[in-house]
Amino acid sequence: MLRLISLSSGSCGNAVYIEAGRTKLLVDAGTALNYLGTHLADLGVKIEDLDAILLTHEHSDHIRCAGALSRRFGTKVMGNPDTLDALPPSFGRANIRAFPVGERFEVGDVEVEAVPHSHDCRAPVGFVLRYGGKKICVATDLGRVTRPVEIALKGADIIVLESNHDFKMLAHGRYPGRLKARIAGDRGHLSNTTAARTLARLATGSEQKVLLAHLSLDNNSPEIALKTVSDILARENIDSVKLSVAGRLAPSPVVLA
Ligand SMILES: [Zn+2]
Ligand SMILES: [Zn+2]
Repeated sequence: MLRLISLSSGSCGNAVYIEAGRTKLLVDAGTALNYLGTHLADLGVKIEDLDAILLTHEHSDHIRCAGALSRRFGTKVMGNPDTLDALPPSFGRANIRAFPVGERFEVGDVEVEAVPHSHDCRAPVGFVLRYGGKKICVATDLGRVTRPVEIALKGADIIVLESNHDFKMLAHGRYPGRLKARIAGDRGHLSNTTAARTLARLATGSEQKVLLAHLSLDNNSPEIALKTVSDILARENIDSVKLSVAGRLAPSPVVLA
């Protein structure tokens, strides 16, 4: 069995829990440690039983409790060499392991591949995880959808895809111009419209369960993200994409494959 739950998503902290057979993984650990422990316990998972934390990049909303978790329980924290190099000194004596980008490697029963992203940090990645013939793709914190990201998303049974902002809300909102440009830029975050067009372009007709993720608090809402994406998919007559939203500081629905 494969199950995926986003425990928290957005600038308040990111953590995606993935269970595949006997293997228990987190993609990012950007919440408070006790938040993570409480919500894993609600799923029947002991925090000390995690096999590894896969880091996408070094921004604090993705790494906040990763060092403490690793020091306390010995959990492996895995990142690409440049991301590991950019971790703050507060990581201390964590159990840190490097993985290569663009090559497949194994973590327990899961085959993992790190996919390069375009984002304003050292060496950001997303992940493809494969188990039992099923494919998961986690793609947040990216300014544009490059060819490797398209390949990663294509045919995935479960997708966690950034749907960060409504372009008009960002453009007319209170953020300073430079910040608006950074968010909307090639190394920023994906808009609802770009997420929708990407899903529409890559849909194959087989069912895909999609969690829209990393929603901005100021420039988006779950209702607007869902409506924008579902309207664009409906216009293209695509009904194979099943949407839900990954909430801020709240677990998402359980996604099974
Ligand atoms: Zn982020
Ligand atoms: Zn980021």
